[in-house]
Amino acid sequence: MQRVPAPFRIKMVEAVRETTLAQREQALRDAGYNPFQLRSDDVYVDLLTDSGTGAMSDRQWAALMQADESYAGSRSYFRLQEVVAQLFGYAYMVPTHQGRGAEHILFPCLVERARSERGATEPVFISNYHFDTTAAHVELAGARALNALTRRAFDTASLDPWKGNFDLEQVAHLIETHGPRNVAAIVTTVTCNSSGGQPVSLANMKAVYDLAHRYSIPVVIDSARFSENAYFIKAREDGFGDASIPEIVAHMYRYGDMLTMSAKKDAMVNIGGICCIREDRDLFEAVRARCVLMEGFVTYGGLAGRDLEAMATGLAEAVDEQLLAYRIAQVAHLHRRLDDAGVPVQRPCGGHAVFIDAARLLPHIPAEQFPALSLANAIYVAGGVRGVEIGSLLLGRDPKTGVQKASPFELLRLAIPRRTYTNDHMDYVADVIIDTQAQAAQLRGYAFEQEPPTLRHFLARFHPLH
Ligand SMILES: *Cc1c(COP(=O)(O)O)cnc(C)c1O
Repeated sequence: MQRVPAPFRIKMVEAVRETTLAQREQALRDAGYNPFQLRSDDVYVDLLTDSGTGAMSDRQWAALMQADESYAGSRSYFRLQEVVAQLFGYAYMVPTHQGRGAEHILFPCLVERARSERGATEPVFISNYHFDTTAAHVELAGARALNALTRRAFDTASLDPWKGNFDLEQVAHLIETHGPRNVAAIVTTVTCNSSGGQPVSLANMKAVYDLAHRYSIPVVIDSARFSENAYFIKAREDGFGDASIPEIVAHMYRYGDMLTMSAKKDAMVNIGGICCIREDRDLFEAVRARCVLMEGFVTYGGLAGRDLEAMATGLAEAVDEQLLAYRIAQVAHLHRRLDDAGVPVQRPCGGHAVFIDAARLLPHIPAEQFPALSLANAIYVAGGVRGVEIGSLLLGRDPKTGVQKASPFELLRLAIPRRTYTNDHMDYVADVIIDTQAQAAQLRGYAFEQEPPTLRHFLARFHPLH
């Protein structure tokens, strides 16, 4: 692969603290062996998430100063609305404090609508794969979250360019078995975080949209990594090699009726989100009513005016092709170093993160002892590198039966914040993981010391098994 030099230089630096092995062992014990509970000061390279952890540009910082902090009708809101309308082509927008805020104001409206207009009795949402908070908000709204991801994604060793795609037969089957009236919405997640930051093809987005519309089911595009997905379409899908990223984005959003977005990912802000609706005025009124109640007045949605400005500028930078090329190449650099050393990784490399297949690396640790948590803790102790488990621990239990859901993956995700770390950091991380791989047989699983009832992966405490 070709080297892609950084299309920026560094104007400000932030010191990070190196720690000793003994300090890290102590910090992990204090954290109940849950990386979410570590203090960031005890972490050297933090790959827990790419959410809200990117570096803003000088233009974004400059935009902060020009913000309008008016409670209602802020100029910054109208600027954001203009950028959003231009990129996505949807008429209606409210800002939200982050992606889950958008889910919280939209999903109950969709469920209510399915019940009142289509006679839904057991509402469900179907997604290529629901993100964790997305699934939680579906359940909070009284519906069930069903995933219909291409089976090819579950074989981490296979090289398939579209491991974020829906399995179309499965979608059709789920609509039939639950009854179209019960399907409150289909959620197209771009890129598909849970399968490894893997893209969804435009052909697949279109096929899902056409299928949904045959049954009058609305389609929501869960848009956190919309521009990385567009970049993969440009690189991999026939007929789009010469299209610009904004053209591809416009094309993608024809295959949705509304969108929720965490702007903390591709839009490169530290906090923020949006909820947009293409043309359904009544639905928008319902969403606005919930926005006022849950997020804030409709022109600020739980954000400061300066957050709206940073988001507007960040959205414009998100579709900068040079920046995307550099970003994807940096992730690919870490991926290649691990792959070359025989570390089992999800292939091909995805957009925002490298996913290590802990089930393959640690076959002696069963799923219910969380092999990817074991690996996360091992690389933290070895080198102060923080990653996150994406597997059984994250997936949780069935809310009705309390039985652990069967996870198709046991992955350790190393998410790369945007414009934050250098490739020297990436090489350091690769060295730590390759050293840890040599000790794999000695790693042990974990059991709960304390297990919270919802979103347990954030707050649970564990003890190591012997
Ligand atoms: C991050 C994310 C969300 C939730 O957004 P927050 O800003 O964390 O609330 C929803 N869906 C996807 C795909 C995400 O990556």
